[in-house]
Amino acid sequence: MTVLIAGAGPTGLTLAIDLARRGIAVRLIDKATEYFDGSRGDGLQPRTLEVFEDLGVLDEVLAQGRSLPLMKIYLDGTYVDARRMAEPEEPTPDVPYPNAWMLGQSRTEKILRDKLADYGVRVELDTAIIGFTQDDDSVTAKLSTGETLEVDYLVGADGGRSFVRKQLGIAFVGTTDESIRMLLGDVAMDGLDHEYGYWFAAKDNPMAGIAATPLAGGDQFQFGAPLGEDDVDPSIETLQGLVDRYAGPGVAKLRDLTWSTVWRPNVRLAERFRVGRVFIAGDAAHVHPPTGGQGLNTGVQDAYNLGWKLADGREEVLATYETERRTNAERVLGISEDLMQKHVDGDESALERGENTRQLDVSYRDRSDTRPIAPGDRAPDAPLVDASGNKIRLFDLFRGPHETLLRFSPTTPSTHPHTVNLARHGGSAYTSPEAFDHYHAQDGDEIVIRPDGYLG
Ligand SMILES: Cc1cc2nc3c(=O)[nH]c(=O)nc-3n(C[C@H](O)[C@H](O)[C@H](O)COP(=O)(O)OP(=O)(O)OC[C@H]3O[C@@H](n4cnc5c(N)ncnc54)[C@H](O)[C@@H]3O)c2cc1C
Repeated sequence: MTVLIAGAGPTGLTLAIDLARRGIAVRLIDKATEYFDGSRGDGLQPRTLEVFEDLGVLDEVLAQGRSLPLMKIYLDGTYVDARRMAEPEEPTPDVPYPNAWMLGQSRTEKILRDKLADYGVRVELDTAIIGFTQDDDSVTAKLSTGETLEVDYLVGADGGRSFVRKQLGIAFVGTTDESIRMLLGDVAMDGLDHEYGYWFAAKDNPMAGIAATPLAGGDQFQFGAPLGEDDVDPSIETLQGLVDRYAGPGVAKLRDLTWSTVWRPNVRLAERFRVGRVFIAGDAAHVHPPTGGQGLNTGVQDAYNLGWKLADGREEVLATYETERRTNAERVLGISEDLMQKHVDGDESALERGENTRQLDVSYRDRSDTRPIAPGDRAPDAPLVDASGNKIRLFDLFRGPHETLLRFSPTTPSTHPHTVNLARHGGSAYTSPEAFDHYHAQDGDEIVIRPDGYLG
């Protein structure tokens, strides 16, 4: 089987790794002539960390990133308080990574590209998809290099302006809010302590201020400032002017601006995520406001949901991609738009609570099913002890592209190639009373865990 992925952002890269590790022939093309170098989506949510662990990139992500910084709040130049967007939580047996992790998007992408290279796949830069046709058996794609190729599936992970989505004639329904504009950038800010984040605002309008969050691996901050109606050029002089205005002259001297952009909140959802053998994923299918830090994370989850389904290839499995991921995107857009509105309205507590943004509660269950755990829910982790007394985790046994059959106090042999027999208290299998609790399992229960870590 061969898959062509258009777009080598976080979504395309995640999908390419997931396919390549299954031995599927994949080509990953990007129209850009060089890799994007900006921090953009710099908050990795807990569920993304779990996916990254399965894909074998988590150690590097943890080594290069940092935890959410304490934000020092200054009003009219006077320090008033220090807070975090979300208070750190302790890991629990079922949630090994409860907290968001900060890493600039360009660094995350580099880590993913390096992992992909381990499978012998490289991003083909300066290569755009410029046309395609499909029939029942294949997709024929035309590339800007002059090449025409035939593949089994095409995935458009080509961002908010997706060529693939437009070519399929899929409507991208939503709004661009012209009343809000933000100046964003990556810049060093001499005079500020890089251990902290900063919020500078006026006392009479504390929610309209500039934010500076430290970027791991260097001395830059991700800078964000509200802009008025006037067009500005996103230069270092413009940023310096805003800092002087909000923080006070001489508080921070800016240098080393490596990326900046003027940005408008754009909230849109594609009407379909698939036409025949062509799929769309990530920003190509849904774009988010930055509040809640969901855009990149939702794209990674799309890719992780789609990878094993493409590998499976059965229509009834492929069909679930759109139903599961479009419903989820609709929900996530509701959250982030809601948070954006609360931000605009001045409800800062909504942003601090970090509610629902961790993506650990993403579920594809039938909403009429009221059981505490049901097919479609995220499969929780649990500590295990093996027959030799060694401690491992359930996630260690899920790791890899396969599905897993979990059996609770089984009495018969299993023919499933990835079976995990669980006992409550000792025996020849894995012992884990916690797993019985987390899965609300009775003796004799059997549960299939999908390759993407949801209950089958
Ligand atoms: C200013 C800004 C701030 C953000 N902040 C956050 C945040 O805090 N948290 C968060 O989670 N998300 C954030 N995001 C969103 C996040 O950056 C995106 O959700 C994420 O990049 C989506 O990944 P993707 O792989 O789907 O698409 P992209 O990263 O957009 O990648 C698409 C790729 O497709 C390529 N391409 C386009 N057309 C073609 C073609 N015809 N052929 C081949 N290749 C093509 C492009 O060159 C690009 O490399 C932010 C975005 C922006 C712009």
